[in-house]
Amino acid sequence: MKETTSTVLQCTAVTDTPITHALVALVEMPGGPDDPDDHLADRPYVLCELGEHDEDTEHAAHLWTAETEPPQHLWFRWTESGSGLRVHHRFVILPGCPARFINIDEGYRQWCGFPDEHPGDHSFRITDPLRDALAERARLEAQRLISEDDADDTPDES
Ligand SMILES: [Zn+2]
Ligand SMILES: [Zn+2]
Repeated sequence: MKETTSTVLQCTAVTDTPITHALVALVEMPGGPDDPDDHLADRPYVLCELGEHDEDTEHAAHLWTAETEPPQHLWFRWTESGSGLRVHHRFVILPGCPARFINIDEGYRQWCGFPDEHPGDHSFRITDPLRDALAERARLEAQRLISEDDADDTPDES
């Protein structure tokens, strides 16, 4: 019997990236990107990556990892009013969370992708139903393509 890891759902908060502030944060960060403009052009908005949390906890989106020793991560943290308006935001630079998940049966380990001392569950315990649904669809599609290939390869028995 296979053990399943208990999981929590990902927070659904989304907000516009405050481009000017984010640019300053990236430029000032030691080990920041060479092309902060380009980096932000791809991210007009950000999603909270944490597991579901209460409204007193800041949302958090990862913006950049500096390959310093140890690596440092730039996170955008924000809070919202009940109607989804951003009330407050800040940028924080933090080392990564040291937690890791070791799956002994399947022989792999996974580091937590969140900043040190983050609230709530570690990233490896969080599921995103949309992402999972897309992954499942891709898997089924791949299976379908493979079985079609197999059908083509079947020698003609005439
Ligand atoms: Zn959140
Ligand atoms: Zn963690």
